[in-house]
Amino acid sequence: MSIRFPELVGSIVEAALSPHPVDRYLELVDPMLTWRDLRAKVVAVEHPTPRTVRLGLRPTRQWQGHEAGQYVQLSVVIDGVRHMRCFSPANAATDAEGDLELTITAHDDGFVSTYLRDHARVGMVVGLQQAQGEFVLPSQRPAAMVFVSGGSGITPVLSMLRTLVAERYAQPITFLHYARTSEDVAYRAELAALAAAHPNIDLRLHHTRDAGDGHFTGAHLDDIAGFDDAQMFVCGPPALMNAVEEHYDTTGMTQQFHKEAFTLAAPIVVDPDAPVDGELSFLRSARSTTNDGRTILDQAESAGLSPESGCRMGICFSCTAIKRSGCTRNVLTGETDTEADTQIQLCINAPVGDVEIEV
Ligand SMILES: Cc1cc2nc3c(=O)[nH]c(=O)nc-3n(C[C@H](O)[C@H](O)[C@H](O)COP(=O)(O)OP(=O)(O)OC[C@H]3O[C@@H](n4cnc5c(N)ncnc54)[C@H](O)[C@@H]3O)c2cc1C
Repeated sequence: MSIRFPELVGSIVEAALSPHPVDRYLELVDPMLTWRDLRAKVVAVEHPTPRTVRLGLRPTRQWQGHEAGQYVQLSVVIDGVRHMRCFSPANAATDAEGDLELTITAHDDGFVSTYLRDHARVGMVVGLQQAQGEFVLPSQRPAAMVFVSGGSGITPVLSMLRTLVAERYAQPITFLHYARTSEDVAYRAELAALAAAHPNIDLRLHHTRDAGDGHFTGAHLDDIAGFDDAQMFVCGPPALMNAVEEHYDTTGMTQQFHKEAFTLAAPIVVDPDAPVDGELSFLRSARSTTNDGRTILDQAESAGLSPESGCRMGICFSCTAIKRSGCTRNVLTGETDTEADTQIQLCINAPVGDVEIEV
């Protein structure tokens, strides 16, 4: 689509005087020319393993940088619908300058991850949100570090490792990583090179499908240098996180323990004993559906709506909307809420009876 300069100026003036954001007009000229929106251009695409895609992203000037371990919300339009997902930059902490590196593992039935693996191209422009999250290195660096990651969970802890290496952190670092096979380790060569170049890095790769010592056992934490004074950062699939945490709890370890999940440990289930009735009304869209007990986000999507959403597990808050009336149940905690005109997260709240929501 082309647009002439006088028309563009006219549109921008009109936009400044109207509720339509200026960025809707600027993107007609160049999607990277934004007034408020943070976006990023894909500047590199690699496929380090068959299941992963590594993207280099160059953000627009609004980018404020990230701390090692934080995540960003990336949005991409697929078949005319914008989808948002969280990804943790794998590069060392950045200030407002500098590109981001995302490594995305495609899940067999994963909508956005398989789309990006198969369709991401240099020049593609994606939506971005500023980095967020509390899974970060302590500002006072600890006397030793232990990182445990599985599969795609390597990204935030690799960012931490790269940050510590860039800072010339000289204390012991133990890096345990679990992958299906050695071919599935997205950063195998770099990890090996870092361990070879830095005697303080103890790299322990475990493969769960190759012959070998497989899944996590407490023995994998044996003989770790500086263990008693270390802080532990764990990120990976629920089974790995649970096993490490259980070990941590039962052995009375005293290290500070930090964890980040990419997905819910257990799928959200409808409480079989909870009565399921009522009408769920989406006020802004003037639609309603008979409550089937699932989360409001799931029911909205089944009703053909596409409310903004990200993590689908209650951490990113991108699906927050105003509940005008009715009772909702937080499916993670079981708590109910009857307050009117209150903000709720659609992905972790289910209606109890009639509910009106601004979607
Ligand atoms: C804070 C945070 C940081 C993240 N960082 C990264 C990252 O750096 N790299 C990366 O590859 N992913 C990361 N993720 C996961 C990512 O946001 C998506 O959940 C993942 O890419 C799947 O999205 P999808 O659209 O392909 O799958 P969907 O279409 O949303 O889901 C399809 C199916 O896959 C299952 N599924 C979804 N996510 C996962 C998962 N993580 N593990 C196992 N099964 C899953 C769903 O239960 C569902 O059955 C992160 C998630 C969070 C919350």
